Amino acid sequence: MFSCIKTCTLEGLEGHIIDVETDISRGMPKFMIVGLPATAVKESVERARAAVRNSGLEFPVAKITTNLAPANLKKEGTQMDLAIALGILASSDQLNYDKAEEYIFLGELSLDGAINRIDGALPMVISCRDLGYKKFIVPAANKKECAVIADVEIYPVESLNQVIDFLDGKEKIDRFILDHIDMQNDFYNLDFEDMRGQEKLKRALEISAAGNHNLLMLGPPGSGKTMAAKRLPSILPRLTFEEAIEVTKIYSVAGLLKEEGLIRQRPFRSPHHSASSASLIGGGRIPKPGEVSLAHNGVLFLDELPEFQRSVIEALRQPMEDCVVNISRVSATLQYPSDFLFLCSMNPCPCGYLGDPNHECTCTDREISNYLGKISAPILDRIDIHVEVNPVSFDDLSSGEKAESSAEILKRVERARDIQLKRFEGKKIYSNSQIPDKLIHEYIKIDPSLKKLIQMAFKKYKFSGRAYNKILKVSRTIADLEGSEEIKDSHLLEAISYRSIANDYWGNR
Ligand SMILES: [Zn+2]
Repeated sequence: MFSCIKTCTLEGLEGHIIDVETDISRGMPKFMIVGLPATAVKESVERARAAVRNSGLEFPVAKITTNLAPANLKKEGTQMDLAIALGILASSDQLNYDKAEEYIFLGELSLDGAINRIDGALPMVISCRDLGYKKFIVPAANKKECAVIADVEIYPVESLNQVIDFLDGKEKIDRFILDHIDMQNDFYNLDFEDMRGQEKLKRALEISAAGNHNLLMLGPPGSGKTMAAKRLPSILPRLTFEEAIEVTKIYSVAGLLKEEGLIRQRPFRSPHHSASSASLIGGGRIPKPGEVSLAHNGVLFLDELPEFQRSVIEALRQPMEDCVVNISRVSATLQYPSDFLFLCSMNPCPCGYLGDPNHECTCTDREISNYLGKISAPILDRIDIHVEVNPVSFDDLSSGEKAESSAEILKRVERARDIQLKRFEGKKIYSNSQIPDKLIHEYIKIDPSLKKLIQMAFKKYKFSGRAYNKILKVSRTIADLEGSEEIKDSHLLEAISYRSIANDYWGNR
């Protein structure tokens, strides 16, 4: 008998419906699976066989052919186990097949018939929903992430027998509904009130948060760069529901979702400097999202940037520019989003004390040159704000008195973001940093009287075209923080100051 059970496979974040077609016929007992299955899917055969037997059901002694359609699509993952086992049971008349046709089945099988958690359940449910499917049988461990989507029916299951009994009408399974998603929950525990001094650095971080601008901190060890970086998420606007879904989908595919249904906090990723290009950008045999995608809608922080391999730093150019990464593989190209705020820190020289009045720099010119040379001009160009951090004693940084709290700073950031959301309404632009270069003069108007100022700065610092656009965008954000419609000379000068440091350090090298 022939049967067809529906399940799903992912390509990147995009899910495709898979028809698991099973035919059982007389002949030499044999189980064949066809239709471009990956290795893990081939192993499904053995899991399905054991799970069926250990659930007290009969595994037919016959010629079994399972075809995963469409055949031209590479199938990945273990989530098809359940549908493969159900296909065998349906084709051997051990299952209420009519009812099974209403559902999409997702689940990995244990040898004892239990149904295990799978990776990527949320993007699968969303893709299937978009294709018009509404009812899903999912592993109980995945129920929360799946139920984040309101207009689908999620039925969590724990074993193969439970699914059979449910389809036979012998057991009722309640549709799982998430009570309430609280997007306002506050759980970021690091606060700028613990960090005294370093006003210039805090100001730069505030501008960065307000306009979603990339930022480089340059200063000696112990000046509070890392401490400040870790506090940046506390002044970033909260994730919207749509942004939270985007983030959760990526973590779901990466297998990094924990108990929470929806990730409500902006990601802050801080990979170690030994990280490879593949771990940063994504890839591997079964291509998983890299750090640039795990930081999507949040912050990617590279502490001690020159310690990273040069090739790794250069690999960031494409995702920073396009806000998506393309991962090539044999049969197709996968795409993961990578729209992150790039935050990085570095010392001014290998020993760290170049220009420090309290310590002597022990580096040779050549060493300094090599060190700074790890950061190429195109990478520097893609960083909107460069800020020099001065040395400060630890006592100053963390003395008893409280500094301005993150909540206070966040209020200003949110005001500036609201202005931007209004400015770009309906344009799929959410912050000044995202203004496409070709639209820059439409959104950022500079009074003719200020043109001279720009020309002078241009002559002095030899800015590139890209740097010029960054200056305009940052000055727009500074004006927004002030609630000023017009960009004033003070805004422009401050924005220029965030680009002149590169000239001081890299300019004559
Ligand atoms: Zn030095």
